[in-house]
Amino acid sequence: MRLFHENKPFFKGNLHTHTTNSDGKMDPQDTIALYKQHGYDFLSITDHRVRTTDVMEHEGMLVLPGTEMDFALPGQTIHLVGIQVPPSIADFDRAQGPQAFISLVNKQGGAAILAHPLWSFNDADTICALQGLCAAEIYNTASQPPWNPDRADATGILDYAANRGSLLRTVASDDTHNYNGDECRSATMLQADSLTPEGIISALKEGAFYASLGPEFVQVEYDGNTVSVTCSPVRSIFFHTNLPWAPKRCVQGEGITHGEYRVQHDMGDAYVRVIIEDENGLRAWANPFKV
Ligand SMILES: [Zn+2]
Ligand SMILES: [Zn+2]
Repeated sequence: MRLFHENKPFFKGNLHTHTTNSDGKMDPQDTIALYKQHGYDFLSITDHRVRTTDVMEHEGMLVLPGTEMDFALPGQTIHLVGIQVPPSIADFDRAQGPQAFISLVNKQGGAAILAHPLWSFNDADTICALQGLCAAEIYNTASQPPWNPDRADATGILDYAANRGSLLRTVASDDTHNYNGDECRSATMLQADSLTPEGIISALKEGAFYASLGPEFVQVEYDGNTVSVTCSPVRSIFFHTNLPWAPKRCVQGEGITHGEYRVQHDMGDAYVRVIIEDENGLRAWANPFKV
């Protein structure tokens, strides 16, 4: 099993962005130009509870219309990002609940992502109950200082959910609001047949993508016994699994580009999630898979 295609380019995108059409501090045109300047290939504008942009292309960058819908639950909130949604999404009655929103987005040909689960205090029960998500944000730039307490990295809560059987794929998104440092940092690196809405949505559903703040995956392979990783030079490769303890789940060195983990079938390994970290402490997360 290989997580990525051998000969398909990666497109770089941010799937969660606010503008002056809700509570963001930059207008859509300037936001699109800014992400283009920083090497992004696609961007989804996801203002709160509305859909304000059409599908468009800006100097080779694809802009997908999106929205973010929020739901209040006792002790937590659920924020869902809908990608490639129609204008009528603004008519969605939030009293129907988060599952109805996910189902509607999928029915309309879009993709739904669980936003910032740690910021939202989502627990494993909540996450496991949601059906039809294409991914969850394992990293959300805006969920950290100076804009928030430090809850950007949701690896822990997504490991709890994975340990309970919900192997959600993961993206990293900026959730840009302020444009004073929360822009152009997180990315979803995605292998699509074409830089079109259809290409992006089908790649999101197929799973050929990873979340990154900088480091790059080349390949993650599993032959039934060993997980092998090749990547850009990093200082650490972590193999997260459901086991509290297993040997050799951390490979470290200077500028390493390869690491392996021998799956502990006897001990009960059920899934593996590979994380790489570069010399600056920036991480990338591969999608978890069953072993
Ligand atoms: Zn949110
Ligand atoms: Zn948001």
